[in-house]
Order: sequence, then C-alpha cells, then structure tokens
Amino acid sequence: MSEKRRRIVIALGGNALGNTLPEQMKAVKITAKAIVDLIEEGCEVVVAHGNGPQVGMVNNAMIALTHEDTQQPNTPLSVCVAMSQAYIGYDLQNALREEMLNRGIEDIPVATMITQVRVDPEDPAFAAPSKPIGKFVDEEQAKIMEEKFQYTMKEDSGRGYRRVVASPKPVEIIEIGTIRTMVESGDLVIACGGGGIPVIRQGNHLKGASAVIDKDFASCLLAKELDADFLIILTAVEQVALNFGKPEERWLSDVSVKEAEEYIKEGHFAPGSMLPKVQAAVDFAGSKPGRRALITLLEKSRDAIQGKTGTMFHL
Ligand code: ADP
Ligand code: MG
Repeated sequence: MSEKRRRIVIALGGNALGNTLPEQMKAVKITAKAIVDLIEEGCEVVVAHGNGPQVGMVNNAMIALTHEDTQQPNTPLSVCVAMSQAYIGYDLQNALREEMLNRGIEDIPVATMITQVRVDPEDPAFAAPSKPIGKFVDEEQAKIMEEKFQYTMKEDSGRGYRRVVASPKPVEIIEIGTIRTMVESGDLVIACGGGGIPVIRQGNHLKGASAVIDKDFASCLLAKELDADFLIILTAVEQVALNFGKPEERWLSDVSVKEAEEYIKEGHFAPGSMLPKVQAAVDFAGSKPGRRALITLLEKSRDAIQGKTGTMFHL
C-alpha cells in the first residue's frame, strides 16, 4: 500500500516573485522548479504567496489613472490586492504547468483561486497602520496623498515617505470549501495570494477592507484549515538566526515551539520580516501533534524537506 502523501502549504516570499513584470516572469520559472521538486518528492502541494511590490505597483498605476481621467475614482486597496492575486496567479500557474509538462507530469491541473479572507473590523491593527506599500515620495507629495486620498503616509528610515496600511490578522478564508475540494481532487492550487483580499462581514455582504494581510499568517491559517502536515515558508535566507547580523549570530536547524517562543520574547526576529514567519511557524507547529513548519531558501526546499537544511519547527 502506498504511503499517504504529505500535504504541504508553501508560502512564497518576495524573492520568489521579483519586483517588476520581467523579473516576475523570470523568477516564477525558478520558483516552479522548486515547487515541482517537492511534487516529485511525493508531496501534495498548495501554494500561497506574498504581493508587497505587486500590490504597490497596481496601487500606483490606479492612482495614475485618476490623474489621467478625473472621472475615475481611486481604486480601493482590496481591489488592488485582487488584481495582484490574478496577475501573480497567472504567471505562477503557467510556469507550474509548463514545468510539470517538461517533467512528464500530465495529470495535475493547476488553478488559481481568487481568495477573500475575513478580518475583524475591531482588530487593533486598523488603528495602527504598519505595513509600507508602494513607492517612496517626498514630503510635499506625501501631504498631497494624505489630503487627496486620506492615506496614512510615514517616513521610512531616511528614504522618503511611503503609504502605510493596516495589517490585520486573518480570521476566516471565505473560499476554503472550494480550495479543499480542489486539493482533495488532486489539483495544484494557488490560493490566499498576497495574504488574501481582506474583507469585513456586513450581514450577507463582504466589504473590502483597506488593508494588506501578512501572507505568513494567511498561509498558516490555510495550512491549518487544510490539515496540512507541513507549512513551508520560502524566503531570502536559508535558516533563521539568533542574534541575526551580530558577531554571536547562530543559525537554527531545529527548534521546538517552546524554544521559539522564548527566542521571540528575547527579540531575535525583526518585526515585519522574520517575526511574522516565526510566529506563523510556531502557531502552525503548535496547533496539533505531527504538524511541522519549515523556514528556508526557495532553492533549498528539496534539501530542507529531506532534513538537510532550513529551520524546522516542531512541538
Ligand atoms: P519575504 O519577502 O520572504 O517575506 P522578508 O524580507 O519579509 O522576506 O523577510 C526575510 C528577511 O528577514 C531576511 O532576508 C533577513 O534579512 C531578515 N531577518 C530578520 N531577522 C532575521 C533572523 N533572526 N534570522 C534570519 N533572517 C532574519
Ligand atoms: Mg515579508
């Protein structure tokens, strides 16, 4: 009897997608190789991804439209997230399809699920926007954007001003039933792109929220909902470090949930980059015996799943 295939949710970071259209086209080819490697290892894979540069790009393009045509109102951020999901999904699903066909895998259909993720309107994140998106502007331009679009603009470490948006926690994946059906029938599904389109429930209506959900937290919720065995967060470093960038830096290969919680308290992980990943990894690995999370470099995912590298989180 064949062993049950391990179900894996992969969360792709910025380096898996690049910063521009041509960069993304190139990056997804490498990303597709890493993902199909895992399928060849016998894993059942579900793909989630971030959208930082892309949602900023779409947002800026839509602002440019309002300058060109005064009839056009500004585009809500939730719609920008939806556009980024579709555009990234399009490139990813094509690259995955092609890579599988190149390796003779002809029986796995690939599809992107436009995914809405419910957030709590009372989430404290709405009162304290923290996630920078889009391009840098000067002080004068920042003032105009605050007045014209009611954006919150913040100075970002001497590099100029950027829009900051709320980053609430994901509560519920609206399309989870469909995603599960597709995964159960053997499809390769791309879901929860950019952390999902943030929505707030108003009776039967789902209203888009002006926010960007962290993809690390959305992927964690997706992995729990699909009862995955593994959550793999692919990023720009091969392992997670203690005292990152300091002389006493120490790379971690294996951490228990308890140890990781201590390291979080000691402040080893930068908020906005490594901290949400470690929090998501701890949350998933701690949610049920047997569940594990892995943080590693895209190109190392095959080695990492075989236990050769990466940082593994377990109960
Ligand atoms: P992604 O786009 O994949 O979400 P981020 O840039 O948000 O990537 O986060 C990954 C980055 O976190 C790494 O490139 C590294 O510079 C930084 N980082 C911060 N703290 C740590 C740490 N303790 N160990 C490893 N990397 C860390
Ligand atoms: Mg990030």
